[in-house]
Amino acid sequence: MRLTDDRYANERSQFELALRMIRHEARTRTIRECTGLSDDRIRKLYWTYFRNSGVTGVRRRRGKSPRQITRFVKNAQHQLQSTTLVALYNAGLLLRIDERKLVHPCWPRPDVEFGHRLCRAFETYLLLHERPLLSFEWAWTLLHSICGDELYLASCAGCDSCYVQDAFALDLKTCPCCEIEAERRRRPGVKSFGGD
Ligand SMILES: [Zn+2]
Repeated sequence: MRLTDDRYANERSQFELALRMIRHEARTRTIRECTGLSDDRIRKLYWTYFRNSGVTGVRRRRGKSPRQITRFVKNAQHQLQSTTLVALYNAGLLLRIDERKLVHPCWPRPDVEFGHRLCRAFETYLLLHERPLLSFEWAWTLLHSICGDELYLASCAGCDSCYVQDAFALDLKTCPCCEIEAERRRRPGVKSFGGD
């Protein structure tokens, strides 16, 4: 009986995560990696709960996750939002930042718990930014990229805070907040960092 209960609870958690990720328009492949469900079951969930139930506004994404890391650092707004996500990943124990500000992954491979933590971080990010510039799939890519060698956490010379930086770009030691503030002082009333 106990075994059946556990199996039921596990399956329920897998389904809940799949639905949560579909709502964020995660790709089938990403959902499969976290939930362990087959592509076929994920497709059926999507059709049952979203397509056939009249829920609109959710699209099913196919193919690989986006890759270019410039998305995270292309301007101060993107850099600020990437940094918010990394701070939330750290708070959600999805990664660990050591005293030298090096980032280490905490999960050897994605699983259901990892997926729920990632969703929680992404949902908090959506609440914190009025105009979110990163989709769930970009958030997924960021989590992997910040633990690799293409991105790192730089320190601001002005306010000492950390920010996401391109490992192969010139670092001006200015965090996105200080950059946005400086821009505001240079050109008051002009919103120059709005675009995606
Ligand atoms: Zn700063």
